[in-house]
Amino acid sequence: MFKAILIDKDDSGYHARQTDLDDDRLPAGDVTVKVGWSTLNYKDGLAITGKSPVVRSFPMVPGIDLAGVVESSEHADWKPGDRVVLNGWGVGEVHWGGLAGKARLKGDWLVPLASPFTLRQAAAIGTAGYTAMLCVLALERHGVTPDKGEVLVTGAAGGVGSVAVAVLAKLGYRVVALTGRPEEADYLTRLGAADIMDRAPFAEPGKPLAKERWAGAVDVVGGQTLANICAQMKYRGTVAACGLAGGMSLPATVAPFILRGVTLAGVDSVMCPRPDRLEAWQRLGRDLDPALLDELTTEIGFDEVIPTAARILEGKVRGRVVVPVN
Ligand code: NDP
Repeated sequence: MFKAILIDKDDSGYHARQTDLDDDRLPAGDVTVKVGWSTLNYKDGLAITGKSPVVRSFPMVPGIDLAGVVESSEHADWKPGDRVVLNGWGVGEVHWGGLAGKARLKGDWLVPLASPFTLRQAAAIGTAGYTAMLCVLALERHGVTPDKGEVLVTGAAGGVGSVAVAVLAKLGYRVVALTGRPEEADYLTRLGAADIMDRAPFAEPGKPLAKERWAGAVDVVGGQTLANICAQMKYRGTVAACGLAGGMSLPATVAPFILRGVTLAGVDSVMCPRPDRLEAWQRLGRDLDPALLDELTTEIGFDEVIPTAARILEGKVRGRVVVPVN
C-alpha cells in the first residue's frame, strides 16, 4: 500500500482526498517509480480544486511532477535504483501523477536526474523551474543578452517567476520583478531582482505602443498584462509567454510585432521534446544557485497538499512548494 491524493468526479461532485492505494491499482506503464518528492504547481491547484478542467480522466492521482527512484523497469533505458525526474506529458491530468508513493509511467517520459541535484531539489525545481529555464532559453534563442537591456519577470513571487528571477540575475541580466506582493520585495531582491514593480498598472488597458523599456520578458500572467508588456518591448525584444495566471485572453494589437519586430515566443513544458528538456535540466544545473533554490522552496506535509492547492490559486504561495512522499 502507498499513500496518494485521489480525485474523483461523480454525481455528488468533484472531490480530492488523501487515501491509501494498492500497487495493483497503478495504471499501465513500463517503469515503476518510488516517488521521493512531489510538488505543487499552479496546474496542480487547478486539478485538485477542480477550478479548471485540467483532469480529463477519473479517478486521477494529481501531480504533474515527481522526483524518485526506479523500483522496476521493462524499459531499456532504466534500471532499479536510477534517480529520475518527471515533468508533464499529461501526468496528473490524463495519467496518474506524482502525488502518491508510487507512480507507473512510460520510460520515455523520464529524465535522468544528474548531479548536482538531490531528489528534493529536483522536485523544488519541478515543472515551474524547468519552464522558467525554457523561457530563458527562448530569450537566448532570440538574441536577448544582458547588454540589450532590462528584462521583466511577471508573477515574480510565484514558482516560475522566482526561478526565472534567480536564473536571469545569475546570468547577468538586470531583472525587474513584477509582483502584486510588495511584502515579498526583500525575497525578490535576495533572488537577484534589481528592481520591483507593482503589477496593478499592467492589468489596466494600455496603448498599442508604449515607451520602449524591456529587452526581454518572461510572462506567466497573460491577459492585459501580456498585451501591455508587448507594447513596452524594445525594438526586436522578445517575450517568452508561458502562463495565464491573470487570464487567457490577449487583448493586444499587432503594432509591437509589425512596427518594432517584437517576438512573442510561446513556451510549453508539457509536450516539450526530450532534447529541449535535457538542455533545460542541464542549464539549471549550471545557472541556478542551489542556495537560492533552497531560499525559494517551502516544504509542506502530505496532509497539507489539498489546502495548499486552494492557496496557490489565490496567489498566496511563495516560490516553490515541495512535498515529501516517502
Ligand atoms: P504560482 O501560483 O506559483 O505563481 C503565479 C504567480 O502569478 C503568483 O504567485 C502571482 O505572483 C501572480 N498572479 C497570480 N494571480 C494573478 C493575477 N490575477 N494577475 C496577475 N498576477 C497574478 O504558479 P506557477 O509559477 O506554477 O505558474 C504560473 C503560470 O504559468 C500559471 O498560469 C501556470 O499555469 C503557467 N505554467 C505554464 C507552463 C507551460 O508549460 N506553459 C508550465 C508551468 C506553469 P505575484 O504575487 O508575484 O504577483
